Amino acid sequence: MTSRILWVLAASLGCGGVAIGEGPEAFAEGEAERRVPAPPPPGEAGRPPGPGARGAVATGVVTLRGGTVVGQGLLDVAMDPATGRIVEPSAADTVVDVSGQWLTPAFIDSHVHLAYYPIADELAAAGVAAAVDLASPERTLGAPPRASALRVITSGPMITPPAGYPTQSWGADGYGAECQGTPACQGVVTRLLDRGAQLVKLPIGHGPDHHPDTLAAIATIAHARGALVAAHALQDDAAKRAAAAGMDVLAHTPVEALTADTLAAWTQGDGRAVISTLAAFGGAPTTVDNLRRLREGGATVLYGTDLGNTRVVGISAEEIALLAAAGLDGAAILDSGTRAPAKFWGLDDLGEIGLGKAGCVLVFDRDPLANPSVLATPAQVWINGARQR
Ligand SMILES: [Zn+2]
Repeated sequence: MTSRILWVLAASLGCGGVAIGEGPEAFAEGEAERRVPAPPPPGEAGRPPGPGARGAVATGVVTLRGGTVVGQGLLDVAMDPATGRIVEPSAADTVVDVSGQWLTPAFIDSHVHLAYYPIADELAAAGVAAAVDLASPERTLGAPPRASALRVITSGPMITPPAGYPTQSWGADGYGAECQGTPACQGVVTRLLDRGAQLVKLPIGHGPDHHPDTLAAIATIAHARGALVAAHALQDDAAKRAAAAGMDVLAHTPVEALTADTLAAWTQGDGRAVISTLAAFGGAPTTVDNLRRLREGGATVLYGTDLGNTRVVGISAEEIALLAAAGLDGAAILDSGTRAPAKFWGLDDLGEIGLGKAGCVLVFDRDPLANPSVLATPAQVWINGARQR
């Protein structure tokens, strides 16, 4: 039986938020000294929001009628561009016919660098509602918010030893905050969180390293402040040390084959996660297999592109394909870009389509569960109840 619900007017903010400061150039992260393609042409920033056709002026609540909400069935979804929320039914809504189409929540990219590649508006227009910025200069923390449909949470600079990664390479311009020893590094954690960082990122196994006691102390103080800790750890030993120090999430799928000990460390216990970034490192079979094994062991997989290193403006078809190669089916891939990161990062109003959630919805011409490759090319993008595409 068809359940048909019209959601009308509710309240408050949508998925819009703060974008961090802008930065100029391309870079290659990690040892992958990859060539970065030229930036794409200017995106579709600044397009006026609106209900029906793209670019139309917002006039009130819009109902997407007749579509299948993936995982829920036939549902009409109403969104209020004034509040950015999914709302209750009303006969007065503007109707957009999406019969025969599929609806999902908009995506969350759990690894970007928007100070290097400032395309917040273009990302939102392409279907990304939120992003986790995993290294930006400290000067971008607490900067006045720039109006954008993209919500961004950020680590600020990586907390690194003197001359540590990435201060001697792509991140020389402030992408690492240097400190030596536990008291100094605890001070840096406190300073960054005070200035607006919402999580902490540390490099391990990539040049000089913090002492294991310092790594653990940084994680402890971050956790005490309610901040998660991400590790840039590409090698097996580095990933093992990250787990031992109490870190929560691997910023990349490690590229070196993981040993049983390291797998066990990242899959036992308490909801540890790994951000995929498979395409950013070339999608090598070893890396893909690491992700498969981490997931099979119970680690949470979060879709992430390492935007800045990669240059896909939107949801990455290559990353989707590599997630499939790692054994994720359509539902698991969708989860890695929606519900799972919303839960992991505390983005409570994203990752689901439901009353009171943000009006961040993608519309597809084909069922993304059966054809996950379509996730990269939504037919419609709605962010905060406003049509972007
Ligand atoms: Zn990165």
